[in-house]
Amino acid sequence: MLRWRHGLLIVPAVGLLFLLGVGDAVPRQEKVKPIRALLVTGGPYHDYAKQKDLLSKGIADRAHVEVTVAFDPIHDIRQGVKHLNPVYEKADWAKGFDVVIHDECCSEVKDEAIIARILEPHRQGLPAVVLHCGMHSYRSAGWPRMTPWFEFTGLPSTGHGPQRPIDITFADKDSPITKGLADWRTGNEELYNNSAGKPLDTAHPLARGKQTVRGRDGKDRTDDFVVVWTNLYKGKTRVFATTLGHTNDTVGDGRYLDLVTRGLLWAVDKLDDAHLKTAAK
Ligand SMILES: [Zn+2]
Repeated sequence: MLRWRHGLLIVPAVGLLFLLGVGDAVPRQEKVKPIRALLVTGGPYHDYAKQKDLLSKGIADRAHVEVTVAFDPIHDIRQGVKHLNPVYEKADWAKGFDVVIHDECCSEVKDEAIIARILEPHRQGLPAVVLHCGMHSYRSAGWPRMTPWFEFTGLPSTGHGPQRPIDITFADKDSPITKGLADWRTGNEELYNNSAGKPLDTAHPLARGKQTVRGRDGKDRTDDFVVVWTNLYKGKTRVFATTLGHTNDTVGDGRYLDLVTRGLLWAVDKLDDAHLKTAAK
């Protein structure tokens, strides 16, 4: 590779870069410190046993994130909706994590002291991602109008229609989260309502979902709700949220995983080339 000619050392350009350490075979991004995420999941109505794997692998494939899974396997509806994920039994349950993904489904966990314990690290600034049934959990006093959990998620929602395709339209195309993402139509999926008519003042909508369903009167109607947004909780904590994610088809869809991964990186303020893996850009 190295040749002497007329007394000069000729080094091919690539070799020179190598000698300088610039063209190191190990990409810069592999030296990035991984983000530590805790995925809290489990409960009834959904295939969380499968979805925990789709999410943790999908996110780790796309970004430098290490996902630790706290899975509650109780799937029975009557027990599951009131069962607290065991990870919350410790007061310092979120210690050591950079972000928490709330993907639990427990509408009947209503104890305000427990909910305060779950919210405490977020009150202090720990970023969060809230997915699908996470939005319908923790229906404590004040529900359906306002609860501590709604204040955290940023968008009161109390129910959903039948499973039908949803047309997703990104309303804010300038957001770093939605950059490069294209509108899409889901398979059969649940469209969560916006029961207060709109997100809270602390929230910022990113995408809407339209779904045509057959009403009780036999006529078709089209519902149109915010389905992706961000929230600034307690004036400082970044929360990324989407009500999408009922079926394994949606959760395993690359477009969904791109969206959730970018939302997570935004929440920890690390949505950049160093933290995204090349294939996901
Ligand atoms: Zn669902």
